[in-house]
Formats: sequence, structure tokens, C-alpha cells
Amino acid sequence: MTELYHRNYIDGAWVDGGAGRLAVDDPATGEVFAEQAVADAADVDRAVASARACADSGVLAAMRPVERGRMVRKMGDYLLERVDEIAVLLTREAGKPLWESRIEVEGAARYFEYYGNQAETVEGRSIPLGANYLDFTVYEPFGVSAQIIPWNYPLEMTARSMSAALATGNACVVKTPELDPLTNAYLAEAAEAVGLPKGAVNILCGHGREAGAALASHPGVNQIVFTGSVATGVAIASAAAKNVVPCVLELGGKSAAIVHRDADLDTVLSSVRWGIYFNAGQVCSAMSRLLVHQDRRDEVTEAVAEIAKGLSVGPGVERTEFGPNMAAMVSEKQRDRAEAMCAEAQREGAVAAAGGRKLNRPGWFLEPTVFSGVSPDMTIAKEEVFGPVLSVLSFRDDEEAIRIANGTDYGLVGGVFTEDVDRAMRTAQQMRAGQIFVNEWYAGGVETPFGGYGKSGYGREKGREALWNYVQTKNVAIALRK
Ligand code: NAD
Repeated sequence: MTELYHRNYIDGAWVDGGAGRLAVDDPATGEVFAEQAVADAADVDRAVASARACADSGVLAAMRPVERGRMVRKMGDYLLERVDEIAVLLTREAGKPLWESRIEVEGAARYFEYYGNQAETVEGRSIPLGANYLDFTVYEPFGVSAQIIPWNYPLEMTARSMSAALATGNACVVKTPELDPLTNAYLAEAAEAVGLPKGAVNILCGHGREAGAALASHPGVNQIVFTGSVATGVAIASAAAKNVVPCVLELGGKSAAIVHRDADLDTVLSSVRWGIYFNAGQVCSAMSRLLVHQDRRDEVTEAVAEIAKGLSVGPGVERTEFGPNMAAMVSEKQRDRAEAMCAEAQREGAVAAAGGRKLNRPGWFLEPTVFSGVSPDMTIAKEEVFGPVLSVLSFRDDEEAIRIANGTDYGLVGGVFTEDVDRAMRTAQQMRAGQIFVNEWYAGGVETPFGGYGKSGYGREKGREALWNYVQTKNVAIALRK
């Protein structure tokens, strides 16, 4: 028996799963400490029916938006009031340092604040058709929003979609990740605490191929948001297409930072620390490639290798404050996959300037890693590792830098480090990515739209752009009688 068992939240009640239970381990030790109910297709049916009934009742859509917005904002307050407790559970299930878990809980709360505030700003427009007509548009919620969540930010990713969906008057069915589903329970509690109607929020965990697939293909779903791998994204988009419903895909990346000859070294190093070692590199918008002007290559490579070597790696619960530290990866499988990619990189000729191996201790730890001598054709330069692994490449001129940066199938984010504003702007124009950082990786916030070019997906989450994922436009044209 484990100390903790979490049920699914369907139709306003905590229920066991039709597919039994799954074990949740602590990535710092590998030991199982909790169990989670596993939904089957029948559970998904019940959750969608509940959300459908809520949406069809019109209760959310009919509310004055400011009232709905206040409820959404209060869900964020609910999380903040429990930040310490949630952060501990998040660290236990996902492995991340405790200070990072706090950032994630605060980030989740921030989504509820931001989209709660936006609820009453979703205004239509009036379209002039001449004196004989009055024409206007209104935005209506799709109805039932299905959200399939990845394990790298389990709480924040649910908050991101759920807050915007609720603010615009949709009911939600969330499929949480198998590896770290536990903290999502706080969102169901929050929905209850703020008085959202039954069915507005349903949260269930289940296996991707069963519950995930059942949700993505469910005829009662009107709109889908997915974050995760390209292969699963393709399956979800195909299921959505069969039901003719829209979906937003936020997939992976192999994002590049271009370091020009005039770049400030400390600025670059601070961005490397966050860009590739935050959440042990398990971030879709991680800075996984550093493209350095050939004149600065050795100096920058040495300095980033020092950062990697200077990080203390160990259990997340012991890492309570921001500093030179990193914790476990989410699972043995992800860690071993990343380590295998490091071995492959070395076979292809890359040199490990730091790390490259797993830690010789229990738990799913990988050394913070830097590869030098990477060329654009190597696997490590093209495929997403989803771990704390930085590849350093070099370039001769601006044109080559852009060509290498744009030379993968992905296009999620990109960065440029230079003191020359013209060069920065030209680079921003030429990089094929949904978000460009100038002199600070991860600059931006909940307010700034986020999403990919190419195989990184389509649609945008965050910012005002994301609101339009959850509403459809209705035009009303009125012929005026003489
Ligand atoms: P995944 O895409 O398989 O899983 C993400 C979510 O989709 C999970 O909730 C999973 O249960 C669900 N899912 C899986 N198969 C499904 C299906 N057929 N239909 C519906 N839902 C399904 O990702 P993963 O296996 O957890 O990780 C594999 C790789 O994905 C990682 O190595 C990484 O490259 C990438 N990834 C990216 C992100 C991101 O933020 N972009 C997040 C997590 C993983």
C-alpha cells in the first residue's frame, strides 16, 4: 500500500478509474509513493457527458463575464494560498527542485489571474454595411474543451489551457500525464471552492493510447489543446480532423541561440543557466543549441561547461532556493533516452565538454551536459533530447548562423545575443520561430503569445491570442426596415 491515492474528478465527484490504478514514483529515489486512478474510455465518456451538460445548460456562457472572470481569478488565489504544500507534492512527483516547483505553482496561479482579467475583454465588433443594415459579431465558447497535458509542467500546462477556456465560458475535460498526475487534483478542488458549476471542470488521468485517444476522438468534444511530442500531436490532429474540430498543437523544439562576436558573456551565461538547465532541460522551448561566432567559440564553450560542472545535482526537496543546482529528470525512461542520445552524439564525433552520463546513485539524474564540436548534420543537433544537454555549434557569418538556426524541422523559439540592435532585428526577422528572445532567453510571460512554426505545432497559447482558441465567431446581420 502506498501512502497516497488520488481519484479522478468527474461530474463533480471523486471517482475510481475503470482501468485501475497506476504507480507514481519519486524521481529522486525511484521509489513509488502514490497511486493514481486510471480512467478508461467509459470514464472519458462520463467526463465528456458532464462537460457537455454544463456547456449545453449555458450556465457559464450566460454569466456576466466579470463574474466568470472573478471565479477564474480566485482559482489562482486558491493555488497561491497552498503554494508550499503543492510545491512539495510537485517536487515529489516530477522531480524538479523545490524552488522550481514554487515557480510552477505561482506560474499556474498567474494564468488564472491573467485570463480571469481577460474574461470581460472578449468583445465583438460592428461591421458597416451601409444605412440599411446593422451588423455585429459576437464570440461564443466552443462548448467542451479537451486538454491533454504533458508531464514537464503538469500543473502549469493545465492552468494555461483551463484558465483561458473557463474565462471564455467553456467546460473542460483534462487528461493529466501518467508520470505526474497528482497536483492536478488541486485544480478540481479550486474549481469547487470558487463555485464553478458541476461539469465545468473534469480532471482524469489515464493512459495516452486509451483515455487520451478516447478523449481526442470523442464526438462530444468541440475543441482540443495538446502539448507533447510530434508523434502524439499527429495522432491527435488526425482524430480532431475526423470530428472536424479545431486543435492547438504545442509540440517540441530544437531551439537555437545565436551568440554574435559582440555578445556580452555574462548575459549569455545567465541565459544558458536558465535556458537549458531549468527543469533539467525538460522544456519544449529549451535552448538546446548554442550557435557561437567562431571567434568566440572556445571562450564561450569553456564558460558554459563551467556552468554545467558548477551545478549541484541531487534531490529536488533539498534544493529549496534558486542557485547553481539541478534535480532529477522525470523518469528512468526519459533519463536513459537522454543518456543514449549523449552516447550517440559522441559516436558521431561530438566532444563532451561537461557531463554526458547518468549519476551513479538512485533516482533519474543526468549530468548537466555540454557538447562541443557539434555539426548541424549530427543527430544531437537535430533531434530534441528533452534533457539538460546543450550542443555548441559555431558559425562564420550571419547568413550561416541563420541557416543553421533554421535548419531543423522545428521552429518553437529562437534567441540572439548581440549589442547591435540592427543585427538583432534582422535576426528576429529571419529566424523561423514563434517567439524570438533578444539578449534574454525566456524573456516574456503569460502575456506573450507562444507557439511554433514547422513541426513545433500550430496555434498559440498564452497572451490574448490564446483566447481565440476557445471561442468561435458568430456574425449577426440585421436588415433595417424602412
Ligand atoms: P507524449 O506526447 O506521448 O505525451 C503527452 C500527453 O499525451 C500525455 O498526457 C499522454 O498520455 C498523451 N498521449 C499519448 N499518446 C496519446 C494518444 N495516442 N492520444 C491522445 N493522447 C495521448 O509525450 P511523452 O511520451 O510523455 O514524451 C515523449 C517526448 O515528447 C519527450 O521526449 C519530448 O520530446 C516530448 N514532449 C514535449 C513536451 C512539450 O512541452 N513540447 C512535453 C512533454 C513531452
